[in-house]
Amino acid sequence: MPFSSLGLSDAIVRAVADTGYTTPTPIQTQAIPAVLNGGDLLAGAQTGTGKTAGFTLPLLQLLSSSAVGKAFTTNSSPRAIRALILTPTRELAAQVEESVRIYGKYTKLNSAVIFGGVGINPQIKQLKHGVDILVATPGRLLDHMQQGTVDLSKVEVLILDEADRMLDMGFIRDIRKVLAVLPPKRQNLLFSATFSDEIKALADGLLNNPATIEV
Ligand code: AMP
Repeated sequence: MPFSSLGLSDAIVRAVADTGYTTPTPIQTQAIPAVLNGGDLLAGAQTGTGKTAGFTLPLLQLLSSSAVGKAFTTNSSPRAIRALILTPTRELAAQVEESVRIYGKYTKLNSAVIFGGVGINPQIKQLKHGVDILVATPGRLLDHMQQGTVDLSKVEVLILDEADRMLDMGFIRDIRKVLAVLPPKRQNLLFSATFSDEIKALADGLLNNPATIEV
């Protein structure tokens, strides 16, 4: 099955073709149509399964095809953060944001990545400039929230990547503080390699009638 049969637009399919990938991996075959459906998703997937493209491709598609997505091409209003992707580490955050850039290169969407251990001021500048898709680690995102330098009031899609690692690293409180400021009506995707009771509890509270995928 080619990427073009999963419901993705030409702009996304072309960007995938540029990377040289010809066949979706099992998680991509399942996750892409599920995410495009607009519902919540609970996905069990290890690193190396192609999970990043599994959520990035349909996310880009959803955001670039919606009416709101078209509005900002007029430049009349600043961009709002419409998708938030949380990851446990800065390395993963950087990798995920790179994927967003690569797969989104033929869309008008832009992205930024924020994580700790580096200066906050360049991040503040970037956020001011306007961002559609924000990839972040929880701690630094919370710093921005506390400083009032990030506006999450327009988030339509929340993605928790490697949720089990985020919990292992003690980010549950930070995650809950982030959840508290998001609009209640949104699409939620949770990716995790393992499913402890803690993850199940998080998923139960977060996800609405989710599609479930295990690879
Ligand atoms: P991930 O599990 O998202 O970290 O991806 C693991 C690796 O597989 C990354 O290096 C991707 O670039 C690569 N990859 C993702 N999707 C595909 C695909 N459909 N075909 C071949 N390689 C892929």
